[in-house]
Amino acid sequence: MNNPKNPKERNLLKGAMRRVFSRSDLRRKALEKHDIDYQDPERPRVTKWSFCGECGVIEPRYKMEVDHVSPVIKLDEALEDLTWDQLVDRLWCDEANLKPICKECHKRKSKAENKERRRIRSEKS
Ligand SMILES: [Zn+2]
Repeated sequence: MNNPKNPKERNLLKGAMRRVFSRSDLRRKALEKHDIDYQDPERPRVTKWSFCGECGVIEPRYKMEVDHVSPVIKLDEALEDLTWDQLVDRLWCDEANLKPICKECHKRKSKAENKERRRIRSEKS
């Protein structure tokens, strides 16, 4: 197989895989773990509610994101260290590694992980 070697194409492929994962049964099942019996009288059309596994905020399920608790790309790795099979296996991981969290918490966690990756990389070089 001719693997794309340039970073732009690799990142595009990673994004495409993440988008497929975002529509997967596994992700949906993980999201449903945080379904709660809740109704907001001011938002009667929203019937499915969920809570963030980090901060506990209650939000419509469609707004929740699914976090890979143990990150897809480990903190001391880069995308190019992984084969595509490994990337797929890490995305479609054990359901126990998937946690519904709100967008804000997901952003905060990813940012901290990326900062740590950069720190580790700068130490290596
Ligand atoms: Zn949160």
